Amino acid sequence: MADQPDVVIIGAGIAGGALATVLARNGLDVLVLEKTQVHRDRIRGEWLAPWGVAEASGLGLLDVLEGAGAHYTTRTAPYREGLDPEAARTRSINLAALLPDVSGALNVGHPRLCEELDTAACKAGATLMRGASSMSIELGECPRLGFNHDGRRHEISPRLIIGADGRGSEVARQSGLHAEADPVHHIIAGLLVEGAGAWPQDEQTLGAHGKATLSVFPQGGGRVRLYINYAIAERRRYAGAEAARNFLAAYRVPSLPFGEALAAARPIGPCHGYPNADSWIDEPVTRGVVLIGDAAGHNDPTIGQGLSITLRDVRLVSEIILSGDRSDRAFAPYVEERRERMRRLRFIGRLVSTLHAEFSEEARQRRSRAWDRTGADPATGLPLMSMLKGPDALPAHAFEQEAWNRLLA
Ligand SMILES: Cc1cc2nc3c(=O)[nH]c(=O)nc-3n(C[C@H](O)[C@H](O)[C@H](O)COP(=O)(O)OP(=O)(O)OC[C@H]3O[C@@H](n4cnc5c(N)ncnc54)[C@H](O)[C@@H]3O)c2cc1C
Repeated sequence: MADQPDVVIIGAGIAGGALATVLARNGLDVLVLEKTQVHRDRIRGEWLAPWGVAEASGLGLLDVLEGAGAHYTTRTAPYREGLDPEAARTRSINLAALLPDVSGALNVGHPRLCEELDTAACKAGATLMRGASSMSIELGECPRLGFNHDGRRHEISPRLIIGADGRGSEVARQSGLHAEADPVHHIIAGLLVEGAGAWPQDEQTLGAHGKATLSVFPQGGGRVRLYINYAIAERRRYAGAEAARNFLAAYRVPSLPFGEALAAARPIGPCHGYPNADSWIDEPVTRGVVLIGDAAGHNDPTIGQGLSITLRDVRLVSEIILSGDRSDRAFAPYVEERRERMRRLRFIGRLVSTLHAEFSEEARQRRSRAWDRTGADPATGLPLMSMLKGPDALPAHAFEQEAWNRLLA
C-alpha cells in the first residue's frame, strides 16, 4: 500500500466499489477501506431505475452488474385497491421504451453487487482493506487519514478522501458536514423471498392496498424483493418473531394478482422497517474530502432512487478527479448539480409518499382523483416519470407546488 495513494475511499458499498473500479481502470492509485468482512443483506437498494441503468452503462459498469446476476423488469403495472388487476395491467408502463439503449429497470441482490464491484475494483488494481476501523481524518489541502487494520495503526496522506460510508456517515461527521432531514412520513419494510416464480418475472408494481403500499421487484428465477410502506403509528407492525409471516400475509389481497403465491414464498433475508425520511447535505465537499452516495444524503427509499443517485455521483466525481484538478473548487459543478438533483427527487419522494403511502379515507379519495386526472390528462402525472427517466428529464417547474396541486389538490 502506498503512503500517498491518489484517492482513499471509505466504504466499499455500491458508491465506493463503483468509484474505485472507475478510477483504478483509469490508472489511479486507489485504496478502499471497508469496516465489514462480508457484505450482508441490510435491506438496501436492489432496484435500479432505467436512468440509473444509463448511468451504469456510461460508467462502463453494466458488465459488472450483469455479472452480479442483474435481471431486467420491462413493465411496471399500477396494481392498487379499487382497480381490477386486468384493468391495471392495461395501464402498465413499458420500461424498455423509456430511454435509448436501456432494456428496462435492473434488479440485483445488493450484497452480491457490492462483492462484484469490489472484485472489479481489485482486478483493475485498487487495494481493498476489509475490517478497517478507528478512522481519524484531518482536513486540509493534503488531508491526513489514520485507521487500524490487522492489529496495526496506519497514518497516510492521500491527495483526496472520498466518504462513501453510507447513511450516518462517519466521514461526514468528522468533516463537520451536517445533514438536514425531512420529518418521517411512514415506515418502509423489506424482505427478500424465493419460490415466487408465479409472479411474472418481467413485471414490477407499487401501489396502495388497504393499509399498506405493496411493492414487488422480481430478480429472476422466482426470487423477489418485496417492500411494504405503512403508517408510522404502527411502527412495529413487522417486528419480532412473526415479522416475516405477517409481512407476507399482507400480500394476500384481491387487488394484487398472484398475491397468494407471494404470501406463500420463502423468506431468505431479514425483515424489518426503516423510517422513510429524506436527508441531504447541501455542500458535500470540504478541504480534501468529498462525499458520495448515501454519505452525502439519501433520498426517500420509497421511490427507489438511491442506487441511481449514487451512480450519477460516481460519474460526476470520477470525471472531476480524472481531469486532474482535485481542489475543492473543482468539485463545485458536482455540488451544484447534486443540490438541484436532490431537491427534485425530494419533491418526488414527498409527492409519491403523499399519493401512495397515506391510508385514511381522505387519502384514498385523493388517490382516486389523481388516478382520474392522469387518465384524462397524462401530463398531470409527468413529474412521476422522473423516477424512471431521471430528475433532469423534465424542466424545473415540474418539481414546483403548481405541479403538485395539479395532481393532488
Ligand atoms: C429500505 C431501503 C430500500 C431501498 N431501496 C432502494 C431501491 O429499491 N433502489 C435504489 O436505487 N435505492 C434503494 N435504497 C437506497 C440504496 O440502498 C442506497 O442509496 C445505496 O445503497 C447507497 O450506496 P452507498 O454505497 O452510498 O451506501 P451503502 O450501500 O450503505 O454502503 C456503505 C458501505 O460503507 C461501509 N462503511 C460504513 N461505515 C464505514 C466506516 N466507518 N469505515 C469503513 N466502511 C464503512 C458499509 O459497511 C458499507 O459497505 C433503499 C434504501 C433502504 C434503506
